[in-house]
Amino acid sequence: QEQTLVLVKPDGVRRNLIGEVLARIERKGYVVTGLKLVEAERELLEKHYEEHVGKPFFEPLLEFMMSGPIVAARVEGHGVVEGFRSLAGATNPTTAAPGTIRGDLGRDWGAKVIENIVHGSDSVDSAERELAIWFG
Ligand code: ATP
Repeated sequence: QEQTLVLVKPDGVRRNLIGEVLARIERKGYVVTGLKLVEAERELLEKHYEEHVGKPFFEPLLEFMMSGPIVAARVEGHGVVEGFRSLAGATNPTTAAPGTIRGDLGRDWGAKVIENIVHGSDSVDSAERELAIWFG
């Protein structure tokens, strides 16, 4: 079965949206096969976000991801990588389509980093790499 990594980022956890995000995943028909609440360390986040090393938002992104607990979920289903990206919506919650997690629940809070509630792996290969990082 295809798998993806979903993270409820610290803003989503602070705003009590864990259940809302998991409910949308489950209502869509995907299955949660791994779930944990973690306080991520810098080393893990540097691996997770290695493609963004050197970008101006890299350090704010790490600070944000270390600002509180994160929920990590392994989610399964045919086409789930693309399917969850579609549920999540565009990166910027200001313009993410209504009906998506970011479009319905997110907004611009004026922070240095885009706070957008969730992360979802962007390809089957990234999913495999990221699941190894978060679930071993
Ligand atoms: P994710 O990988 O978290 O699902 P994404 O694939 O839509 O989101 P990426 O381009 O991989 O976005 O960027 C990772 C995260 O870095 C984004 O989700 C967002 O929190 C933050 N980010 C991306 N671009 C910017 C930017 N230009 N300014 C500030 N923060 C950004």
